[in-house]
Amino acid sequence: MSKQPEIREDLLKDEISEEELEKIKKAVENSTDLQTLLSYYNKSLNGNKGESYYRDQIKKLADKIKAREKNKVNIVGSENKSSRKNVRRNHPTVLRGVVVKKFEGDWIWVEPQSAQKGEYGVKFPEHLSNDDLNVGTEVALNPQNFQIVDILKKRKDPDFESVDTEKTFQDVGGLDEVIQTLRRNVGIQLDDDRRKIIEKWGVDLDKSLMLVGPPGTGKTLMVKALANEYDADMFMVNGPQLVEKFIGEGAKKVRRLYDQARSSDKPAIVFIDEIDSIAKKRQENRRHGGEEVERTMSQLLSELDGLDKDIGNQNVVSIFATNKPSIIDPAIVNRCSAIEVGLPDNIAKKEILQVHTRKFDIDDEVDLWNVVEKMPDEVSGRDIEQIAKQAALSAIYKDEPLEDIKVTLEDFESAIKDLKEGNIGMEKDFLSTDNLHEEIFA
Ligand code: ATP
Repeated sequence: MSKQPEIREDLLKDEISEEELEKIKKAVENSTDLQTLLSYYNKSLNGNKGESYYRDQIKKLADKIKAREKNKVNIVGSENKSSRKNVRRNHPTVLRGVVVKKFEGDWIWVEPQSAQKGEYGVKFPEHLSNDDLNVGTEVALNPQNFQIVDILKKRKDPDFESVDTEKTFQDVGGLDEVIQTLRRNVGIQLDDDRRKIIEKWGVDLDKSLMLVGPPGTGKTLMVKALANEYDADMFMVNGPQLVEKFIGEGAKKVRRLYDQARSSDKPAIVFIDEIDSIAKKRQENRRHGGEEVERTMSQLLSELDGLDKDIGNQNVVSIFATNKPSIIDPAIVNRCSAIEVGLPDNIAKKEILQVHTRKFDIDDEVDLWNVVEKMPDEVSGRDIEQIAKQAALSAIYKDEPLEDIKVTLEDFESAIKDLKEGNIGMEKDFLSTDNLHEEIFA
């Protein structure tokens, strides 16, 4: 596996003096002194007619160094220009690479991102400490000998900025059981100390979870609260967006998404909403954009399998959301635990209403139970939020001194009426692509 230049001292010793051997070793080790090596190579050819193994060895080394010389490239795509400049000042050209394995002792394995593929064992750089370099750390490499020159700032994909959220579980109503399951199964994996203990006990937790439930029931909201509670980075993407916005690039984007999560300094959650659009069963797939969806899906599967391996940030979990579980490919389903997030019952409706009205000045006469009883059976958390907003707006325009304004039962009733009549709500069915199509071509 090692591609470290190999010197067969036993063969060289007979032909070359101790001193010369030292020089060759040094030249090979540094690989900077190509001339020295070549001069020994020429000398060996001149001095000894016919082929000998040691000359082959030297030739191989020389070729290797020549190849490395040819391979010199500047690093591209680093976000941190000043650190790039610093690196360049000391080493005019460097290769981008990644640490792939750590050795005991003073060796470390790197993989350069160049035409010269493979993993190379190099001496642990004296100016860096053991904690600086981990599997997955991106590094600048000397293109001649692949020695680590510096640590590079991680590259980020601007499409996957981590979501900045202040949501907490206090903002979620009526989903206590779901929250508890989330904390127990996912939260623990975002908490390094607890995760290590549970792993030591041999408990194997799924690193991927599927939230199944109708739109607007608080799936995204809960993941935001989870990220906040565990101070985790949350990388969020919408399934259809992956396939439609990044046409032909879905698989690459999935890889970048997980790369971003793995290279985060914090625990990380990859959240893919509407996962059904990229994880459809095969027969569903073929109907539309099949190949692209399939490529994206197989990349996703390999990322999920990768999360179970001991590479990079260990505190990465995937959470998917869907309201069409029946069309999802079993390959994805089998890799996930699943939690159902249903429409709220009356108790949950009241809790959600409390969340969204907690800062309101509500008339003392109002009993939130009465409001809940007037709601349609099937309302989502998002609908209830809309009822609360609409009631507030209806109250604020009343012909009363501003300091006396309170939200009354009538305001809630009128908001519920509006919702029933379709005058409020976020489902925006009229914006569905089918209807848009009809409108455009009517
Ligand atoms: P979609 O599948 O359409 O993305 P979702 O299940 O992810 O839906 P959210 O985006 O989390 O739903 O919910 C939309 C908004 O509705 C939330 O930002 C929140 O204000 C409100 N909401 C939904 N469910 C709840 C809830 N259980 N408690 C409090 N607010 C809720």
